[in-house]
Amino acid sequence: MNVRTLLADAARRLAEAGVESPRVDAELLMAHVVGRPRAGLLTLDDVAAEDAARFAGLLEQRADRVPLQHLTGRAPFRQLELAVGPGVFVPRPETELLVEWALEQLAGLDGPIVVDLGSGSGAIALSIAHEHPGARVTAVERDPGALAWTRHNALTRAGARDTPVGVVAGDMTDAGLLPELDGRVDVVVSNPPYVPDGARVPREVADHDPPLALWGGPDGLDVVRGMLDVAARLLRPGGRLGIEHADQQGTALPAVVRSHGAFSEVADHPDLAGRPRFTTARRG
Ligand code: GLN
Repeated sequence: MNVRTLLADAARRLAEAGVESPRVDAELLMAHVVGRPRAGLLTLDDVAAEDAARFAGLLEQRADRVPLQHLTGRAPFRQLELAVGPGVFVPRPETELLVEWALEQLAGLDGPIVVDLGSGSGAIALSIAHEHPGARVTAVERDPGALAWTRHNALTRAGARDTPVGVVAGDMTDAGLLPELDGRVDVVVSNPPYVPDGARVPREVADHDPPLALWGGPDGLDVVRGMLDVAARLLRPGGRLGIEHADQQGTALPAVVRSHGAFSEVADHPDLAGRPRFTTARRG
């Protein structure tokens, strides 16, 4: 069957269903089915009937708002491709600059210690380990469903360099978390659940991302408030904390961190789209 026709029909089908980037999604699904990179579709004229049938099946699921990354099983994030699927939060491009910031804090440090609280797919932890070889990174995840993906990605490395990442089952608000790292951590980084209860989220997020990765109480900041004591205890003096937040929390989250008392140099940073996205601070 002709690829160009299939793609044109597919893009139309996804557009009708209200999918945001119909053409790109159609191409990525086709690339997945035929096992080529997206650019490789340019030199492909026909696909076998069974591939066309598989494509049609995936297309209907996408039209029904199953996340593209669940259908391909992969989520690109910085230099890596994480394995993802039902049960784990799909890493977002918004989070990439938080990793960039963490790497800047680690520059020049030999074997720095890093903790990623609420690691999910491990996107942040594995990217830091990959881009700062020698970093000693621990990924913490409390949701057993998500933890299976953290472990899977840590084991298979998701294309990362051979820097091991430790995976720990634990809750970022647990006062006794990681006692062996007390006062030793150079950077604590987190993309915690921060969506205010009752806020509207797109159907593909509400139906497919795990609730524990999303909901953060009435103002979305309950988990962050619960995490600050743990972060303050783990960080060495001068160590840095970086926390992602919703674009409406660019004032509220810095205020929460300031009022905790253990941190100085509290600052807020935009994401690649220029929206307020993460708060950073210095321990002490
Ligand atoms: N940014 C996420 C979203 O798209 C929310 C993630 C979170 O709460 N950490 O819904």
